[in-house]
Amino acid sequence: MHKDIATPVRTREILDKYGFSFKKSLGQNFLIDTNILNRIVDHAELTERSGAIEIGPGIGALTEQLAKRAEKVVAFEIDQRLLPILEDTLSPYQNIKVIHSDVLKADVQAVVEQEFASLEDVMVVANLPYYVTTPILMKLLEERLPIRGIVCMLQKEVGDRISAKPGTKEYGSLSIAVQYYTRAETVMIVPKTVFMPQPNVDSAVIRLTLHDEPPVKVKDEQFFFQVTRSSFAQRRKTILNNLTSQLPDGKQKKEDILAALQQADIQESRRGETLTIQEFARLSDALYPYFH
Ligand code: SAM
Repeated sequence: MHKDIATPVRTREILDKYGFSFKKSLGQNFLIDTNILNRIVDHAELTERSGAIEIGPGIGALTEQLAKRAEKVVAFEIDQRLLPILEDTLSPYQNIKVIHSDVLKADVQAVVEQEFASLEDVMVVANLPYYVTTPILMKLLEERLPIRGIVCMLQKEVGDRISAKPGTKEYGSLSIAVQYYTRAETVMIVPKTVFMPQPNVDSAVIRLTLHDEPPVKVKDEQFFFQVTRSSFAQRRKTILNNLTSQLPDGKQKKEDILAALQQADIQESRRGETLTIQEFARLSDALYPYFH
């Protein structure tokens, strides 16, 4: 048996062997605690018939744990310098494919189709680069990938916003976007000490389980998200003021917006952060005819 990558000693050995220096701009904070990694992988509930997609394998700490539990792992890594290192560290495993690519530019859909066609389910499991957490999550969700869910490490503050409930200060358009596609849970709070180098912010692991059907049906998804983003544009403003200032020609259409709010049974003096996803759905459907 070889030693796990995710220990301080082995990680240091690998970094020294290749003279690797961390790039802060790429969100490189590697995990050095096998126990935490195992718990992350537990939350993904993989079987030997599962596929796993990893974003940012680093030197392969999480990748190797995934390879032990899934049938196949595909990992997207942006940093060219890590490719020869991964080839070395992951050489004991035959079921891993590393793709050198910025995941935001990659055709993940095609990769899922090509690599995981015969498998039972696919999970995304990642210790995300924190500078692009939200764009990565939104890409994975908006592309409607045929995945069962996502288990990922991220900034605790972003995790709080994702799983926030109406009426809290963390609740916003990110909560609604993610909750539209998934059931979101924070499953672990993670101390800084399990990373090398240690990040400046606290971390958490969240699990997103994709809905079979979205919790609300709307006439137009894009418009629904536009209405939610507009409603939170300035948190201290009322929903009416945000919608009139943010929606196209909103100022001229104030009467229409008032009519739609009334039709959706939402008081104009409320603030966006108090509206449930159901209320946003009613509101965007009521506004829709005035903006199309
Ligand atoms: N998975 C490793 C671990 O847990 O130790 C490394 C995690 S580290 C937080 C984030 C990784 O994502 C780094 O390896 C970084 O180079 C990579 N990365 C950053 N931006 C990326 C992008 N846009 N696409 C793919 N990988 C990216």
